[in-house]
Amino acid sequence: MKWSVFQQAVKRHQFGLAVGFPWLCALVLCFGVGSRPDLVESWYSRTCYPRIAQVLALASRWFSFSLAETALIFGALGLLGWLARMVWHIRKKQMSPSHALRRATIWVLLGVGWMWLIFQVLWGLNYSRMPLGAQLGLPHQEPTSEELVALSQNLIEDINRTSTLLRTSGETEKPLQMSMDREALGRQLAADFGRATWIAGNHRGKLALPKAVRFSDTMARLGISGIYAPFTGEANYNGLLPDCELPFTMAHEMAHQHGYASEDEANFVAFLVCSTSASAECRYSAFLLANQYVLFSLALTGTDITSLVTQLAPGPKADLKAIRDFWLHYRGWLQKVANRVNDTYLKANGVQQGVASYGEMVMLLADFYRKKPT
Ligand SMILES: [Zn+2]
Repeated sequence: MKWSVFQQAVKRHQFGLAVGFPWLCALVLCFGVGSRPDLVESWYSRTCYPRIAQVLALASRWFSFSLAETALIFGALGLLGWLARMVWHIRKKQMSPSHALRRATIWVLLGVGWMWLIFQVLWGLNYSRMPLGAQLGLPHQEPTSEELVALSQNLIEDINRTSTLLRTSGETEKPLQMSMDREALGRQLAADFGRATWIAGNHRGKLALPKAVRFSDTMARLGISGIYAPFTGEANYNGLLPDCELPFTMAHEMAHQHGYASEDEANFVAFLVCSTSASAECRYSAFLLANQYVLFSLALTGTDITSLVTQLAPGPKADLKAIRDFWLHYRGWLQKVANRVNDTYLKANGVQQGVASYGEMVMLLADFYRKKPT
């Protein structure tokens, strides 16, 4: 159906079909098809989605800057222009406020409906796929505090051992300085993802490398370290992050790009890919960030984590301080608002726990270490 047909339909106040069609399709996909994870897994996540990602990559991988960020800026400017035009028409009495409101409602319903449908088709259905833990044969058992302490100790050993590979004798107490530039790091992670044969429907062709956004400062004020853009297939990250946080964050967004929509699974995929990377810097980042999730979970259970934290070598402690200082620097009301928006977004996509779902990664980690041969 052509765009002009939609315009005519809207003009004739026959917007029922024009507006209803995308909403109906999106609802069927979300609640009909989405209620069958087995179907979504085989038909969408392993078959259609890898091809969709390839098509999106045809455009996005040729641009070093984020197409999604550029589109967002132009979209916001266009929206402001449209609103200003509407206000101008009302002030000139060329349009009554009630007519303007009706018109705006139609366009908002139309725009949101199509955006939702395109989102579901391009990526959103991945929220309804089979759980990754089940696919990897993990037991999905709630870890005890003792298991979490043992897991943290394992990770701390890995952190300290990897840290010595990355720091010369004069730099043992300094935060990590990446030896690779961002592009080389992106290529390294792309190669690591390519080797991860356990990724269902692993993407054979090249996907766009992770891209740092221009407005990383604003992103930090919103408390966002990275964001996947499903409309362009781009893994965007905050370019101002401390070096130790970069590989894991990039890999997290790349996991989304590979079809792992839920936050806990994207974190776990990032851990699995980074912790087996050929680069010690990627392995270090995975161990360091995974341990933070475990320590956070332990702290929530009321366990004293002081003895664990003191086992960290001076270098990793300096990295954790760098991460803390970074986020403290940008802390403010915007982060609280963005966190609430993210929570609503996750819940709207069927993630019951909202932002708390990031803690689910610990369960997958505990499952993985429980099964891992010692
Ligand atoms: Zn994410």
